[in-house]
Amino acid sequence: MHTKKCQLCGGSKLVKIIDLGLHPLADTFLPKECADKPITLYPLNVLLCKSCGHAMLGYVVPPEERYQKIDYSYTASNSKVSVEHFAKMAESVGTKISLGSKDLVIDIGSNDGTLLKSFKSQFGTKVIGIEPSKNIAKIAKKNGITTINDFFNTKTAKVISKKEKAKVIIATNVFNHITDMKAFVKDISLALDKTGLFIFEVPYFKTLVEQGAFDTIYLEHVSYFNVMPFHKFFKEHALYIHSLEKNDYMGGSIRVYVSKIKPKDSSIVNEYIDEEKKYGMYDLATYADFTKRIIDFSGRLNFDLYKAKASGEKIVAIGAATKGNTLLNYCKIDSTVIEFITDSSPLKIGKFAPGSNIPIRPDSDISNEISHALILPWNIADFLVSKLSHLNLKFIIPKMK
Ligand SMILES: [Zn+2]
Repeated sequence: MHTKKCQLCGGSKLVKIIDLGLHPLADTFLPKECADKPITLYPLNVLLCKSCGHAMLGYVVPPEERYQKIDYSYTASNSKVSVEHFAKMAESVGTKISLGSKDLVIDIGSNDGTLLKSFKSQFGTKVIGIEPSKNIAKIAKKNGITTINDFFNTKTAKVISKKEKAKVIIATNVFNHITDMKAFVKDISLALDKTGLFIFEVPYFKTLVEQGAFDTIYLEHVSYFNVMPFHKFFKEHALYIHSLEKNDYMGGSIRVYVSKIKPKDSSIVNEYIDEEKKYGMYDLATYADFTKRIIDFSGRLNFDLYKAKASGEKIVAIGAATKGNTLLNYCKIDSTVIEFITDSSPLKIGKFAPGSNIPIRPDSDISNEISHALILPWNIADFLVSKLSHLNLKFIIPKMK
C-alpha cells in the first residue's frame, strides 16, 4: 500500500527523501522450494512529512504478509550479542525502577523469550510475551515464557489488562515495524499501569543517516525514529518522553522511556531535537547528500568484489542478517559473486537470501579455497572477525563510516 498520509500527524505533504529501488521482504529467508520461484518485489523508499518531520516508508507491505506467511528465521537466543544486550537491558531497567515479583513486564515482539527470561531470573517479575510468528512463539513457550501468539493489538491489550496492568511494556526493534501508530499507542495506554513505563528501542534515524547505514532501511522497518515528531505525537496521546539513551545495538539504536506522567524537566528531549535540527534531519539537502553517499559506496563495494572475483578469488559473505539483504539487493550482488552466506542459526542454514538467492550454509563450509569474506552484519564485525580469525580470510566490512 502506498503511503498517502503521515503515520503520526495525518498530513499529506510527504516528500520522497531516499529511494532504494525494488526489494523483496528482507526479513524472510526462503526455503529451497520457494527459492526457485518468482519473488514479489516492492518499492523501498522513505518519505519525510513536511508537517511534523516524521520519516516513514513510502510503500507498506501488510503485517500478515511480513510475519506470518513464511516461518520467521531470527531467534534472539542464537545471537550471543543479543543475549548479552538483553540481559544488560533487563538489569538496567529493573534496577532503575526497582522491579519485583508483583510487577508485570510485557514484551511486544518477544521472539523466543530471551529478554523476558532475563527479567524473570534477575527480578522475579511476572512476564508475558507477545509474538506473532507461530514457530518462534512455540520456542518461547518451550522456554517457559508465557507467550500470546498474536500481534499486539486492542484484543491482546484487553486480554492482558483485564487481569492487571503492566509496570513495564517493552518493545525492542518492534516500534519501527508498526503500521498504525495511533492504534498502537492507544493499546499501550490501555495495558500500561498509570505509573508504568513504555520502553522501546529502535535504530535512531539520525545515527542511520550520519553513519550511512542505508542497509538498515527495509520493508519491515515502516518508520524511522527521530525525537521531534514523536515527542509531539506522544503528547497528543497523553504520553511523555522522560528519558533517552543512545547505544550501539544494531549499529546505533536509541532507547526511549515513555510514561503517562508529565516530566518536570524536558531538557534532554529538547537537546535531542536541537541536535536533529542542527544536523539537518528536517532538510531535504541532507538526503540528497545521503543518496550520493549511498551510490558512491555501492560503486566502491562492487569494484572491490569484482576485482577479487576477476582475479579468480572466491568470496563468501558472513552472517545472514536482514540488513545484508538490503545491501546485497541494492548493490546487485548475487550468487554470481558470492559463493554462499554463512550463519550459525539452524533456522537459516539451508535457506536462501531473498532476491540475491545466495544459499546459506554453516561456517564449517568455508574451505581453504575461499579467500575473501564480506561481513554483512557490520555492527558486529569485530566479534565475527575474531571468531573467524583462524581461517586466514581477507575481510570486507561494508560500512560507510
Ligand atoms: Zn506528519
